[in-house]
Amino acid sequence: MKISCISAYQVNLPLKEGSYKWSGGKSVSVFDSTIVCVETDCGMKGYGEVCPLGPYYLPAYAEGVRAGIRELGPHLIGMDPRELSQLNHRMDAAFKGHPYVKSGIDIACWDILGKVTNLPVSILLGGRFGESVRLYRAISQLPPDEMAHNVNQYRNEGYTRFQLKVGGDPDTDIERIRAVSAVLGAQERLVADANTGWTQHEAMRVVRAVKDLDVYIEQPCLTYEECFAIRQHTNHPFILDENIDSLAMLMRAKQDLAMDVVNLKISKLGGLTRARQARDLCVSMGIAMTLEDSWGGDIATAAIAHFAHSTPEEFRFTSTDFNSYVTVETALGAPKRHQGFMTTSNEPGLGITPIPEVLGQAVFEISS
Ligand SMILES: [Mg+2]
Repeated sequence: MKISCISAYQVNLPLKEGSYKWSGGKSVSVFDSTIVCVETDCGMKGYGEVCPLGPYYLPAYAEGVRAGIRELGPHLIGMDPRELSQLNHRMDAAFKGHPYVKSGIDIACWDILGKVTNLPVSILLGGRFGESVRLYRAISQLPPDEMAHNVNQYRNEGYTRFQLKVGGDPDTDIERIRAVSAVLGAQERLVADANTGWTQHEAMRVVRAVKDLDVYIEQPCLTYEECFAIRQHTNHPFILDENIDSLAMLMRAKQDLAMDVVNLKISKLGGLTRARQARDLCVSMGIAMTLEDSWGGDIATAAIAHFAHSTPEEFRFTSTDFNSYVTVETALGAPKRHQGFMTTSNEPGLGITPIPEVLGQAVFEISS
């Protein structure tokens, strides 16, 4: 079996809430997502999706996904898509860095492997743990009372984990954390994710001011060293995200005891093959994880579900159902949230079927 064609589709994903705002005044109202199709010489197709959180979250941007695939794709024509390690080895040899460019291709090849073996990707990634995957809801940055209102609404939809977008003015952020904490019950969990937005002294003030509350602190500052300084001055459970973009950083943070939970995003690490490697290492090292991606629609959500469902439950802190945030359905068969949880498809591969009218014409096709 050989890869005969790689094509990319561009899809706009408007947000149901109108916009998504996080630290430093950053916001997105329509996500620009790339759906990657890998086709084989026997006519089988696999799909993946890459959707950066705008151009100012991670070193990734929507047009970069497509530009990168144009550069990388020709090196992969003729390769066997079932041989995931070989494929990733070739991708790394042909194209230095840019893990997010590789992610959609890798996911599409897992989809093919599942279809060829007649197995869901979750089984290929190690097998399913438990019946369903617990989800968190990201709460867009707004005035404190509005964020508390939104948390209450999403509680009514069954969510039990909430990730507040803070990283703005530290005094307002303290109010945000207090306002939301006041509406939560003992079984619920609150994460204050600053997305690198606080300087070190601001972060120090915030963690001290919310010392009495049960809240996790995620990625307070820009650099690993600043985050580590905050970590050493707080008893709050601590999550690293943006800084953990490689196995080397994961190992370093574990060695330093710099986090209690790590946020693994599929495209940040370069696809399911690399994300699984980091995930399995976290399980061996005893670190719980948020298992997700930077953003996306139905196909990204399906990939997240398979990735998360194949992770032991005690190490699954949360995951995300991005397809419920956006107004456009791009594929049939994707997981649908039920009472704050989602379940992986039993169908082969990712278990999704893209909707051709939504994908439209391919932006480009690379073939031999
Ligand atoms: Mg985060």
